[in-house]
Amino acid sequence: MNIVDGEQRLLHTLHTLLTFDIELWCGGWKDMDARFPAAFRRYIYGPSRAGNYALPKTLEMLDSHGLKGVFFVEPLFATHFGLEPLAEIVSLIQDAGQEIQLHLHTEWQDEAKQPLIVKHKPKRQHLHMYNTEEQTALIAHGLRLLREVGAAPATAFRAGSFACNAETFTALERNGIQYDSSLNLTMGRSGTGLPAAMRRQGVHHIGRIVELPVSVFRGATGSLRHFQIGACAYLEMVQALCSAQVNGWSYINMFSHNCEMLVQGGHHPDWTVVRRFEKLCRHLDEHRTEYPTVNFATDSFADEPAGLPLPTTTPAAYVVRNIEQGVRRARDAWAHFRKLDYPA
Ligand SMILES: [Zn+2]
Repeated sequence: MNIVDGEQRLLHTLHTLLTFDIELWCGGWKDMDARFPAAFRRYIYGPSRAGNYALPKTLEMLDSHGLKGVFFVEPLFATHFGLEPLAEIVSLIQDAGQEIQLHLHTEWQDEAKQPLIVKHKPKRQHLHMYNTEEQTALIAHGLRLLREVGAAPATAFRAGSFACNAETFTALERNGIQYDSSLNLTMGRSGTGLPAAMRRQGVHHIGRIVELPVSVFRGATGSLRHFQIGACAYLEMVQALCSAQVNGWSYINMFSHNCEMLVQGGHHPDWTVVRRFEKLCRHLDEHRTEYPTVNFATDSFADEPAGLPLPTTTPAAYVVRNIEQGVRRARDAWAHFRKLDYPA
């Protein structure tokens, strides 16, 4: 659908992907069994005096604004801790009517109680460190684990830390995956071995896989920034959306994590990010004709032309982000010092 704006420009509809990588971390690889219950509570629920500000609050905000999200769930942790916690995560998302796809942090494979592939020392953190056969096997294990806890078959994939390489696309094809969202042009490790024409912004085919890179925009200083909700000011996000549409993009792919609304390493909500996400949800709700949220079940994702100008943001947005970051750092340092939870 095309839209005419106030300046009588013909604009494309900008299909918007709100994606969330759902994962947990025990703070280290030692004493994981002892640390797991607390890590699971924090990363998945994020309990605080104000409410559960990890996955439940994310799902609640999307629901209250009638928005679609895509939840890339990391399942390999279940090869160590069992299927029950993975089933709990999948149920939370399914009960909220949101879509589940596959996310993979390969560092978990060394912790599996039954080895998934031949063990290797030292630990290989990223997917691109594995060969095609190993990547194929690890993706197959991830798909199996999600199936075993009742998730619908995944059609889309995102590599942990965006660490895909050219071999990943063969591995995805072998597993019958249609879509990938692992490319992130702000990260050197993302898409290694791909020809330059394939390692680009915008929806495009890599072999038979449809690639939806994480969206990047050019900030006021000229540097590339990825569209991460926890790392961009609201003004930046709104400007990048508007600029993407004016520049002729058909898709924008934003990402976040299950615990991005919590202060780093803490248990209380980061109100700057909470308010930012709430404002973004309201903006997408109020502009649902221009920026409809989509998922892999409802959209067919047509290729976008190469060479479209990247979205841009203004110096004012840069200043706002830096002020917000400064305030957050100072406030978090004070809260940690005083061992405070913030008032709701
Ligand atoms: Zn991840």
